[in-house]
Amino acid sequence: MAVDLHIHTTASDGRLSPSEVVREACRIGLTAIAIADHDTVAGVEEAISAASQQCGLKVIPALELSTDVEDSEVHILGYFVDIKNSRLLDQLAELRRARIDRAKRILDKLRRVGVDIPFEDVASLGKDGFVGRGQIFRAMINAGYVNPAMPHHAFEHYLGKHGVAYEEHYGLTPYDAVDMVLNAGGIPVIAHPARTASDRLVGDLVRHGLMGIEAYYPGYTAEITSHYLDLARTYDLVVTGGSDFHGPTAHQPVGIGGVWVPDDIINNLYLRMKE
Ligand SMILES: [Zn+2]
Ligand SMILES: [Zn+2]
Repeated sequence: MAVDLHIHTTASDGRLSPSEVVREACRIGLTAIAIADHDTVAGVEEAISAASQQCGLKVIPALELSTDVEDSEVHILGYFVDIKNSRLLDQLAELRRARIDRAKRILDKLRRVGVDIPFEDVASLGKDGFVGRGQIFRAMINAGYVNPAMPHHAFEHYLGKHGVAYEEHYGLTPYDAVDMVLNAGGIPVIAHPARTASDRLVGDLVRHGLMGIEAYYPGYTAEITSHYLDLARTYDLVVTGGSDFHGPTAHQPVGIGGVWVPDDIINNLYLRMKE
């Protein structure tokens, strides 16, 4: 039994459609996945219906919200959000509009350093008008601006938090994101904290309603994971984990199910949902 609670699809910046993700998860024998696209729940229904027709895999509705804090970018996952909640859907539509503005600002900055990518090239890579740094980076690769031997370096240099063309997200704070998830009946979980969030911020977010922490993640050593398991015990947080799969690319080589996550995680998540 294995699970993967952090997967992106073509509903945001992933390379596989929700049905393709389900097919792959079934093929490798996972028992549960969460579709956690950036700022959208548009891929969830397709995944649920594909799963019921295929191997009966459990699909947990989720999303991932990007927020800014002073010197980093914090991501909040929301598990079991009500994907029909009209307030949530309005908020997400607003975030997507802001993403388009942000992508245009990033492209302006790139142009100033000699990287000329038309907005249409970026938009054509995202489903339903989704534009993020993933699409911008792929457009840069397609146009030959990225040294294929060092894609990670290029991403950080141009688009990373301290990159030359970085632009903040729409002013959403991690506290706003926690509220959005709670208001939609979901469980707010801080994603990949080691990259982005201090333990102090985690504590502050817990006091604001944060309920979980992603302790299993690509590249996390046993020490990092055990640090976050301790933190989870301290704050009574549910523990999650997943591959953050976006597609089989050189930039993100870990496949679906590619991160070991203990089985009981899924039961704990369901228990927390019922509380
Ligand atoms: Zn993330
Ligand atoms: Zn992610």
